[in-house]
Amino acid sequence: MTTECIFCKIIDGEIPSELIYKDDNVIAFKDLNPQAPTHILFVPTIHVENAAELAKISPVVLGALFKAVGKVAQDRVITDYRTVFNTGAGAGQSVFHAHLDLLSGREFDWPPG
Ligand code: 5GP
Ligand code: ZN
Repeated sequence: MTTECIFCKIIDGEIPSELIYKDDNVIAFKDLNPQAPTHILFVPTIHVENAAELAKISPVVLGALFKAVGKVAQDRVITDYRTVFNTGAGAGQSVFHAHLDLLSGREFDWPPG
């Protein structure tokens, strides 16, 4: 737990969220400011700044994020979706606790904007 981290506070239950999925390694909840009709954040329960750091510290937990994506997508019949890790403010990261965005329910441009 990092005291000023908003996602640590959500994991801790200090800040409410619309919970989608939870296990020992991963929590998933709806994004407060959705960028698509479905926008779910998959967050490791350990505080790590970004995906590459998570891969260094625990490839198992990194894999657990994608396993959780697969389970939620199957349970909710989400067949077409985009998953994104933003790393660094210049790439759009605004919360510095690693998280995997799942977006679905609209068309997506390629290359992404
Ligand atoms: P980033 O910009 O770091 O890639 O993604 C952070 C995401 O977290 C943003 O899409 C933002 O809307 C979301 N977010 C920020 N604060 C909260 C919050 O308190 N609750 C929820 N559910 N989402 C949040
Ligand atoms: Zn955190």
